[in-house]
Amino acid sequence: MSTVFKKIIDKEIPAKIVYEDDEIMAFYDIAPIAPVHIIVIPKKEIVSLNFVKEEDALLLGKIQLVISKLAKEFKIDESGYRVITNIGKDGGQTVNHIHYHLIGGRELGIDM
Ligand code: AMP
Repeated sequence: MSTVFKKIIDKEIPAKIVYEDDEIMAFYDIAPIAPVHIIVIPKKEIVSLNFVKEEDALLLGKIQLVISKLAKEFKIDESGYRVITNIGKDGGQTVNHIHYHLIGGRELGIDM
């Protein structure tokens, strides 16, 4: 499995990275649907929530902390925002590396 996100992790293709540590990376979505649209991923290659294991629990928690910090950094914490992870075909997942969309900066409707 080599996805476009793996290539971003390995710096084989460029991305506008807004956060990075040993385990997690966040970068601007290439096709934003709102003023703030950031993709947050673990560097560990996990396809989707369908494939997470008990041992991933701490990592998944850390991702939520990073999302919370980024929301403050991008000043959407008070106005509100949405966090989405798409799973599989019906979920609309197009990149098979688990990722969380952090979306905000405008009022989001039910279909966004
Ligand atoms: P999903 O439909 O949940 O799989 O979302 C995949 C997201 O990745 C989409 O919002 C794409 O715009 C975004 N995306 C795809 N390729 C890139 C890339 N090279 N850099 C940043 N975002 C990307």
